[in-house]
Amino acid sequence: MLAERINRLLPQTQCTKCGFDGCAPYARAIAEDAAPINRCPPGGEAGIAALAQLLNRPIIALDTECGLHVPLQVAVIDEQYCIGCTLCIQACPVDAILGASKVMHTVLSNDCTGCDLCVAPCPVDCIEMVDVEPFREWTRNDADLARVKYERRQLRLNKTPASLRTSENTDIPEATSAQTEQPAPSPSTVAEKQTAVQAALARARARRNTTA
Ligand code: SF4
Ligand code: SF4
Ligand code: SF4
Repeated sequence: MLAERINRLLPQTQCTKCGFDGCAPYARAIAEDAAPINRCPPGGEAGIAALAQLLNRPIIALDTECGLHVPLQVAVIDEQYCIGCTLCIQACPVDAILGASKVMHTVLSNDCTGCDLCVAPCPVDCIEMVDVEPFREWTRNDADLARVKYERRQLRLNKTPASLRTSENTDIPEATSAQTEQPAPSPSTVAEKQTAVQAALARARARRNTTA
């Protein structure tokens, strides 16, 4: 199937920078001639060339409105400021973040694809993207591993009842939540979390003001 052959050429970070909800939807759109081949910043010029060859189309420049192609980055959590809200875990498409409710979170840098989807949801702005050193590009092998992790996560989420999936902490990877054995949040812990978020936001703002 053409869409699958296209998907196999995409980087599998699931970053959504192409404007689609992951690599497979973008691949389907290309296959249906509903999207051009130049909307994937992680794939960069090499990715466009590979797609052009597969589809027998001319090579075109990356659409920089989708973003720039940059060397591989990984997310780093400033654990000192993490309030354990789990929002980053819920955003991570490949389960590269360990943590649980009200517990400090950390990124498994070997599993991080650099998609940066965890950065925006963090209420205390304590996640940063940093260059991988020594500098290296995302490889086909990286993409294959990321796809396995993404599909494993999707399987797990699909097995989770919808009623549980809407709860704020049930998107935590099984191994992670099992390791920490955190109880389900009660209304009071939700209220505590909101208070903690406000306090942490105030601390983060104060920190930024003193370093500005
Ligand atoms: S890696 Fe490329 S194709 Fe996949 S979601 Fe990101 S921009 Fe889209
Ligand atoms: S840790 Fe953040 S940047 Fe890394 S894969 Fe997960 S969501 Fe993407
Ligand atoms: S989103 Fe930010 S504050 Fe919340 S758990 Fe992740 S790193 Fe910690």
